[in-house]
Amino acid sequence: RTVYLNGDYLPETEARVSIFDRGFVMGDGVYEVTSVLDGKILEFEGHLARLTRSLNELGMENPLSRQEWLDIHHKLVALNDIREGLIYLQVTRGNPGDRDFAYPPKDTPQTVVLFTQNKPGLADNPQARTGLRVVSVPDLRWGRRDIKTVQLLYPSMAKMEAKARGVDDAWLTEDGFVTEGTSNNTYIVKDGKIITRQLSTDILHGITRASLLRYAAEAQMQIEERPFTIAEAQEADEAFLTSASAFVLPVVEIDGAQLGKGTPGPVAARLREIYLEESRKRAL
Ligand code: PMP
Repeated sequence: RTVYLNGDYLPETEARVSIFDRGFVMGDGVYEVTSVLDGKILEFEGHLARLTRSLNELGMENPLSRQEWLDIHHKLVALNDIREGLIYLQVTRGNPGDRDFAYPPKDTPQTVVLFTQNKPGLADNPQARTGLRVVSVPDLRWGRRDIKTVQLLYPSMAKMEAKARGVDDAWLTEDGFVTEGTSNNTYIVKDGKIITRQLSTDILHGITRASLLRYAAEAQMQIEERPFTIAEAQEADEAFLTSASAFVLPVVEIDGAQLGKGTPGPVAARLREIYLEESRKRAL
């Protein structure tokens, strides 16, 4: 694999970062994951906007221009011959040369890393036909989940808890309500209405979520942005989740309770179709 590190395109084995990097010792960095279909970048503007916002919230500048970011994405896709896959992008506060809680001076160069993940069959995911099973796990993450930081330990723990319990993923709950999934936004469908938690600092503002809700509104579907409980989700007609890598995937079981017939519902299937069609049209 050829990866990008601070202006260079290198074999992955030659890409090296300091042990003092703030991303490594402090989790002081932000990231984005963007999908590639037909060799083109999906949702580029959305991911770039969120990257800039995450950086700003942490007092960091965006080190590159829109065109520079886009060129790197295209070059990595070409160099690695990606038709379907993901592009991972990370910006950290760089290498202060030692370990210290205080931020280093503003002129410390940030560390910029991008790499591709080849995923043939990303769009034709069999899980779209079978659906996912999830369990609820308390949401013990920090209070700024709207910033897409590389601090992913708790989501990893929740994912491992789900695996240990023999299911696909965890839905995180706080004060009795679902916040989101370990790495996705969550939805239920009741009487044709799509219900999903409203944006706040409690959840990541999913790029897939924003586009999906726009397409759903354009298709005259009803949307209600409010929190829902696990009990309400278990009584729903359907449930699903969204993320850049999953697009839209149905959820058919929550904490052992089967939803409806236990098979993916029509609303999630239709939304997946609409999402893939519309985002492919806009791919760069
Ligand atoms: N919530 C969390 C916690 C996530 O990690 C992700 C995926 N990065 C999402 C939601 C979905 O966001 P997006 O649609 O932008 O991939």
